[in-house]
Amino acid sequence: MKPNPISPTIPLDQDGIHHGFLRLPYSRDDSAWGSIMIPLTVVKNGEGPTALLTGANHGDEYEGPVALQELTVTLKPEDISGRVIIVPAFNYPAYRAGLRTSPIDNGNMNRSFPGRPDGTVTEKIADYFQRYLLPLADMAVDFHSGGKTLDFVPFAAAHILEDKTLESACFAAMAAFNAPYSVQLLEIDNVGMYDTAVEEMGKVLVSTELGGGGSATARSIAIAKKGLRNVLIHVGILKGEMQIDPTVCLDMPNGDCFVFSENDGLYEPMVDLGDPVSEGDVVARVWPVERTGVEPIEFRAKVSGLLISRHFPGLIKAGDCAAVIGMAVG
Ligand SMILES: [Zn+2]
Repeated sequence: MKPNPISPTIPLDQDGIHHGFLRLPYSRDDSAWGSIMIPLTVVKNGEGPTALLTGANHGDEYEGPVALQELTVTLKPEDISGRVIIVPAFNYPAYRAGLRTSPIDNGNMNRSFPGRPDGTVTEKIADYFQRYLLPLADMAVDFHSGGKTLDFVPFAAAHILEDKTLESACFAAMAAFNAPYSVQLLEIDNVGMYDTAVEEMGKVLVSTELGGGGSATARSIAIAKKGLRNVLIHVGILKGEMQIDPTVCLDMPNGDCFVFSENDGLYEPMVDLGDPVSEGDVVARVWPVERTGVEPIEFRAKVSGLLISRHFPGLIKAGDCAAVIGMAVG
Protein backbone atom coordinates (compact mmCIF):
# COMPACT_ATOMS: atom_id res chain seq x y z
CA MET A 1 0.00 0.00 0.00
CA LYS A 2 1.11 3.56 -0.69
CA PRO A 3 2.68 5.55 2.14
CA ASN A 4 0.36 7.99 3.90
CA PRO A 5 0.96 11.66 2.94
CA ILE A 6 0.69 12.83 6.57
CA SER A 7 3.92 13.64 8.35
CA PRO A 8 4.28 14.53 12.03
CA THR A 9 6.27 17.72 12.66
CA ILE A 10 7.58 16.33 15.98
CA PRO A 11 9.18 13.02 16.97
CA LEU A 12 6.77 10.38 18.26
CA ASP A 13 9.43 8.33 20.03
CA GLN A 14 11.60 10.74 22.01
CA ASP A 15 11.46 11.37 25.74
CA GLY A 16 10.09 14.72 26.90
CA ILE A 17 7.12 16.72 25.72
CA HIS A 18 6.70 17.81 22.11
CA HIS A 19 3.93 19.97 20.64
CA GLY A 20 3.40 20.04 16.91
CA PHE A 21 1.16 18.86 14.13
CA LEU A 22 0.18 16.04 11.87
CA ARG A 23 0.70 17.84 8.57
CA LEU A 24 -1.48 16.70 5.67
CA PRO A 25 -0.77 18.35 2.29
CA TYR A 26 -4.01 19.74 0.89
CA SER A 27 -3.79 21.81 -2.28
CA ARG A 28 -6.80 24.07 -2.69
CA ASP A 29 -8.00 27.44 -4.06
CA ASP A 30 -6.82 29.53 -1.11
CA SER A 31 -3.51 27.72 -0.60
CA ALA A 32 -1.91 26.09 -3.63
CA TRP A 33 0.76 24.20 -1.69
CA GLY A 34 -1.14 24.29 1.59
CA SER A 35 -1.53 21.76 4.35
CA ILE A 36 -4.03 20.80 7.03
CA MET A 37 -2.26 21.15 10.40
CA ILE A 38 -3.79 18.76 12.96
CA PRO A 39 -2.55 19.68 16.47
CA LEU A 40 -0.59 16.94 18.22
CA THR A 41 1.20 16.57 21.55
CA VAL A 42 3.40 13.61 22.51
CA VAL A 43 4.56 13.13 26.11
CA LYS A 44 7.04 10.31 26.72
CA ASN A 45 9.17 9.09 29.58
CA GLY A 46 11.13 5.85 29.29
CA GLU A 47 9.50 2.46 28.86
CA GLY A 48 5.83 1.74 29.42
CA PRO A 49 2.50 1.55 27.67
CA THR A 50 1.25 4.01 25.07
CA ALA A 51 -2.17 5.67 25.23
CA LEU A 52 -3.66 7.32 22.14
CA LEU A 53 -6.16 10.02 23.17
CA THR A 54 -8.55 11.61 20.67
CA GLY A 55 -11.32 14.19 20.75
CA ALA A 56 -13.56 15.66 18.02
CA ASN A 57 -13.79 12.44 16.03
CA HIS A 58 -17.01 14.30 15.29
CA GLY A 59 -16.22 17.99 15.06
CA ASP A 60 -19.12 19.34 17.15
CA GLU A 61 -18.44 17.35 20.33
CA TYR A 62 -16.43 19.36 22.85
CA GLU A 63 -15.68 17.61 26.16
CA GLY A 64 -12.79 15.67 24.61
CA PRO A 65 -11.10 18.65 22.94
CA VAL A 66 -11.29 20.75 26.13
CA ALA A 67 -10.00 17.99 28.44
CA LEU A 68 -7.23 17.06 25.98
CA GLN A 69 -6.14 20.66 25.40
CA GLU A 70 -5.74 20.97 29.16
CA LEU A 71 -3.80 17.72 29.34
CA THR A 72 -1.27 19.11 26.81
CA VAL A 73 -0.37 21.88 29.27
CA THR A 74 -0.66 19.94 32.56
CA LEU A 75 0.89 16.52 31.82
CA LYS A 76 4.61 16.43 32.62
CA PRO A 77 7.00 13.75 31.34
CA GLU A 78 8.28 13.12 34.88
CA ASP A 79 4.74 12.19 35.97
CA ILE A 80 4.46 9.28 33.55
CA SER A 81 6.03 5.99 32.53
CA GLY A 82 5.45 5.33 28.86
CA ARG A 83 3.88 7.57 26.27
CA VAL A 84 0.74 9.63 25.75
CA ILE A 85 -0.21 10.72 22.22
CA ILE A 86 -2.81 13.50 22.29
CA VAL A 87 -4.89 14.59 19.27
CA PRO A 88 -7.65 16.89 20.57
CA ALA A 89 -9.28 17.27 17.13
CA PHE A 90 -9.21 14.00 15.21
CA ASN A 91 -11.42 15.30 12.37
CA TYR A 92 -9.73 18.70 12.39
CA PRO A 93 -11.53 20.22 9.36
CA ALA A 94 -14.90 19.26 10.92
CA TYR A 95 -13.80 20.68 14.29
CA ARG A 96 -12.76 24.00 12.78
CA ALA A 97 -16.11 24.25 10.99
CA GLY A 98 -18.09 23.29 14.12
CA LEU A 99 -19.61 20.40 12.17
CA ARG A 100 -20.01 16.68 12.78
CA THR A 101 -18.44 15.80 9.43
CA SER A 102 -15.71 17.36 7.32
CA PRO A 103 -16.75 20.35 5.19
CA ILE A 104 -14.08 19.29 2.66
CA ASP A 105 -15.45 15.88 1.73
CA ASN A 106 -18.48 15.35 4.04
CA GLY A 107 -16.37 12.62 5.67
CA ASN A 108 -17.66 11.09 8.91
CA MET A 109 -14.43 10.02 10.61
CA ASN A 110 -16.21 7.26 12.49
CA ARG A 111 -17.39 5.68 9.24
CA SER A 112 -14.10 6.13 7.33
CA PHE A 113 -11.89 3.36 8.74
CA PRO A 114 -9.61 1.76 7.72
CA GLY A 115 -9.19 4.75 5.41
CA ARG A 116 -7.06 5.13 2.28
CA PRO A 117 -3.70 6.83 1.72
CA ASP A 118 -4.95 8.04 -1.68
CA GLY A 119 -8.54 8.75 -0.65
CA THR A 120 -10.37 11.83 0.58
CA VAL A 121 -8.92 14.07 3.31
CA THR A 122 -10.97 12.19 5.94
CA GLU A 123 -9.84 8.81 4.57
CA LYS A 124 -6.20 9.93 4.61
CA ILE A 125 -6.47 10.89 8.30
CA ALA A 126 -8.17 7.56 9.07
CA ASP A 127 -5.43 5.64 7.22
CA TYR A 128 -2.73 7.46 9.19
CA PHE A 129 -4.34 6.40 12.47
CA GLN A 130 -4.94 2.86 11.18
CA ARG A 131 -1.41 2.17 9.92
CA TYR A 132 0.86 4.57 11.84
CA LEU A 133 -0.59 5.70 15.19
CA LEU A 134 -2.74 2.78 16.38
CA PRO A 135 0.10 0.24 15.99
CA LEU A 136 2.09 2.36 18.48
CA ALA A 137 -0.72 2.27 21.06
CA ASP A 138 -1.69 -0.22 23.76
CA MET A 139 -4.97 1.52 24.44
CA ALA A 140 -7.09 4.36 23.13
CA VAL A 141 -9.65 6.77 24.54
CA ASP A 142 -11.95 8.35 21.95
CA PHE A 143 -14.24 11.10 23.24
CA HIS A 144 -17.73 11.57 21.85
CA SER A 145 -20.84 13.50 22.84
CA GLY A 146 -24.15 14.01 21.12
CA GLY A 147 -23.11 16.92 18.92
CA LYS A 148 -25.72 19.38 17.71
CA THR A 149 -28.52 16.84 17.24
CA LEU A 150 -28.36 14.54 20.30
CA ASP A 151 -27.94 14.88 24.06
CA PHE A 152 -26.77 12.12 26.42
CA VAL A 153 -26.51 11.32 30.09
CA PRO A 154 -22.74 11.30 30.66
CA PHE A 155 -21.44 7.80 30.05
CA ALA A 156 -18.31 5.85 29.23
CA ALA A 157 -18.85 2.93 26.88
CA ALA A 158 -17.20 -0.34 25.99
CA HIS A 159 -18.30 -2.83 23.36
CA ILE A 160 -19.51 -6.36 23.75
CA LEU A 161 -16.83 -8.27 21.78
CA GLU A 162 -16.27 -11.83 20.56
CA ASP A 163 -12.78 -11.72 22.13
CA LYS A 164 -13.79 -12.01 25.79
CA THR A 165 -10.25 -11.32 27.08
CA LEU A 166 -10.15 -8.03 25.22
CA GLU A 167 -13.77 -7.30 26.21
CA SER A 168 -12.97 -7.64 29.91
CA ALA A 169 -9.91 -5.36 29.52
CA CYS A 170 -12.14 -2.78 27.80
CA PHE A 171 -14.80 -3.10 30.53
CA ALA A 172 -12.10 -2.59 33.19
CA ALA A 173 -10.85 0.56 31.44
CA MET A 174 -14.45 1.82 31.17
CA ALA A 175 -14.88 1.21 34.92
CA ALA A 176 -11.64 3.13 35.55
CA PHE A 177 -12.92 6.05 33.46
CA ASN A 178 -15.78 6.06 36.00
CA ALA A 179 -18.30 8.34 34.31
CA PRO A 180 -21.64 8.69 36.14
CA TYR A 181 -23.01 6.02 33.75
CA SER A 182 -21.16 3.02 32.26
CA VAL A 183 -22.71 1.41 29.18
CA GLN A 184 -21.82 -1.92 27.59
CA LEU A 185 -23.09 -1.93 24.06
CA LEU A 186 -23.38 -4.21 21.11
CA GLU A 187 -22.62 -2.19 17.98
CA ILE A 188 -25.18 -3.13 15.32
CA ASP A 189 -23.42 -1.47 12.38
CA ASN A 190 -19.73 -1.25 13.27
CA VAL A 191 -18.22 -1.15 9.77
CA GLY A 192 -15.89 1.82 9.29
CA MET A 193 -15.79 2.82 12.94
CA TYR A 194 -12.55 3.85 14.63
CA ASP A 195 -13.72 1.73 17.59
CA THR A 196 -13.74 -1.36 15.37
CA ALA A 197 -10.27 -0.55 14.02
CA VAL A 198 -8.89 -0.28 17.56
CA GLU A 199 -10.57 -3.46 18.78
CA GLU A 200 -9.67 -5.52 15.69
CA MET A 201 -6.02 -4.64 16.38
CA GLY A 202 -6.50 -6.14 19.86
CA LYS A 203 -6.13 -2.82 21.65
CA VAL A 204 -8.20 -1.61 24.60
CA LEU A 205 -10.73 1.11 23.78
CA VAL A 206 -12.85 3.35 25.97
CA SER A 207 -15.27 5.66 24.22
CA THR A 208 -17.70 8.13 25.74
CA GLU A 209 -20.91 10.04 25.21
CA LEU A 210 -20.61 12.86 27.74
CA GLY A 211 -23.36 15.32 26.82
CA GLY A 212 -24.37 17.01 23.63
CA GLY A 213 -26.36 19.76 21.99
CA GLY A 214 -23.27 21.13 20.27
CA SER A 215 -21.59 22.47 23.42
CA ALA A 216 -20.21 21.25 26.75
CA THR A 217 -20.80 22.10 30.41
CA ALA A 218 -18.49 22.56 33.39
CA ARG A 219 -19.87 19.29 34.75
CA SER A 220 -19.46 17.27 31.54
CA ILE A 221 -15.91 18.58 31.03
CA ALA A 222 -15.03 17.67 34.64
CA ILE A 223 -16.18 14.10 33.92
CA ALA A 224 -13.87 13.99 30.89
CA LYS A 225 -10.88 15.28 32.86
CA LYS A 226 -11.38 12.86 35.76
CA GLY A 227 -11.93 9.95 33.39
CA LEU A 228 -8.73 10.68 31.46
CA ARG A 229 -6.65 10.88 34.62
CA ASN A 230 -8.19 7.68 36.01
CA VAL A 231 -7.59 5.74 32.78
CA LEU A 232 -3.95 6.84 32.56
CA ILE A 233 -3.45 5.65 36.16
CA HIS A 234 -5.35 2.41 35.44
CA VAL A 235 -3.08 1.47 32.51
CA GLY A 236 0.07 2.24 34.51
CA ILE A 237 1.19 5.37 32.66
CA LEU A 238 0.39 8.02 35.28
CA LYS A 239 1.27 7.89 38.98
CA GLY A 240 -1.43 8.59 41.57
CA GLU A 241 -4.70 7.32 42.98
CA MET A 242 -7.84 6.94 40.91
CA GLN A 243 -10.91 8.88 42.02
CA ILE A 244 -13.80 6.41 41.95
CA ASP A 245 -17.42 7.54 42.48
CA PRO A 246 -20.67 5.58 42.09
CA THR A 247 -21.62 4.69 38.50
CA VAL A 248 -24.87 3.32 37.05
CA CYS A 249 -24.16 0.29 34.83
CA LEU A 250 -26.37 -0.04 31.77
CA ASP A 251 -26.68 -2.38 28.82
CA MET A 252 -27.59 -1.67 25.20
CA PRO A 253 -27.86 -5.24 23.90
CA ASN A 254 -29.80 -4.62 20.67
CA GLY A 255 -31.66 -2.21 18.42
CA ASP A 256 -34.80 -2.25 20.58
CA CYS A 257 -33.12 0.42 22.76
CA PHE A 258 -33.55 2.99 19.95
CA VAL A 259 -36.73 4.93 19.17
CA PHE A 260 -36.82 6.59 15.74
CA SER A 261 -39.26 9.25 14.61
CA GLU A 262 -41.37 8.30 11.60
CA ASN A 263 -42.61 11.86 11.04
CA ASP A 264 -41.34 15.37 10.52
CA GLY A 265 -42.59 17.87 13.06
CA LEU A 266 -42.32 19.59 16.40
CA TYR A 267 -40.55 17.39 18.95
CA GLU A 268 -41.99 16.99 22.44
CA PRO A 269 -39.85 14.95 24.84
CA MET A 270 -42.09 13.09 27.31
CA VAL A 271 -39.25 11.98 29.63
CA ASP A 272 -35.97 13.68 30.44
CA LEU A 273 -32.43 12.28 30.45
CA GLY A 274 -31.81 9.88 33.33
CA ASP A 275 -35.53 9.31 33.98
CA PRO A 276 -36.89 5.76 34.27
CA VAL A 277 -38.85 4.42 31.29
CA SER A 278 -41.10 1.35 31.12
CA GLU A 279 -41.78 -0.70 28.00
CA GLY A 280 -44.75 0.87 26.21
CA ASP A 281 -44.27 4.34 27.71
CA VAL A 282 -44.57 7.27 25.32
CA VAL A 283 -41.05 8.76 25.24
CA ALA A 284 -41.66 11.43 22.59
CA ARG A 285 -44.52 13.02 20.68
CA VAL A 286 -44.30 14.76 17.32
CA TRP A 287 -46.74 17.57 16.60
CA PRO A 288 -47.57 18.80 13.11
CA VAL A 289 -45.97 22.07 12.12
CA GLU A 290 -48.44 22.88 9.36
CA ARG A 291 -51.74 23.25 11.23
CA THR A 292 -53.59 23.21 14.55
CA GLY A 293 -56.26 20.84 15.78
CA VAL A 294 -54.36 17.62 14.98
CA GLU A 295 -53.29 15.06 17.61
CA PRO A 296 -49.54 14.38 17.91
CA ILE A 297 -47.91 11.12 16.82
CA GLU A 298 -46.67 9.11 19.82
CA PHE A 299 -43.43 7.12 19.93
CA ARG A 300 -43.12 4.42 22.59
CA ALA A 301 -40.27 2.59 24.30
CA LYS A 302 -39.80 -1.05 23.29
CA VAL A 303 -37.79 -1.83 26.45
CA SER A 304 -37.64 -0.73 30.10
CA GLY A 305 -34.70 1.19 31.56
CA LEU A 306 -33.43 4.76 31.73
CA LEU A 307 -33.52 7.46 29.07
CA ILE A 308 -29.86 7.86 28.12
CA SER A 309 -30.16 9.89 24.93
CA ARG A 310 -32.65 12.17 23.23
CA HIS A 311 -33.04 14.18 20.07
CA PHE A 312 -31.82 17.70 20.83
CA PRO A 313 -33.22 20.32 18.41
CA GLY A 314 -36.81 21.48 18.77
CA LEU A 315 -37.83 20.18 15.35
CA ILE A 316 -37.45 16.56 14.27
CA LYS A 317 -37.46 14.73 10.93
CA ALA A 318 -38.59 11.25 9.95
CA GLY A 319 -35.70 8.87 10.61
CA ASP A 320 -34.12 10.97 13.37
CA CYS A 321 -33.25 9.16 16.57
CA ALA A 322 -35.85 10.46 19.05
CA ALA A 323 -34.69 8.58 22.16
CA VAL A 324 -32.37 5.82 23.40
CA ILE A 325 -33.06 3.67 26.44
CA GLY A 326 -30.32 2.00 28.47
CA MET A 327 -31.36 -1.23 30.20
CA ALA A 328 -30.32 -2.55 33.60
CA VAL A 329 -27.32 -4.91 33.29
CA GLY A 330 -28.15 -8.59 33.69
ZN1 LIG B 1 -19.40 11.40 18.07
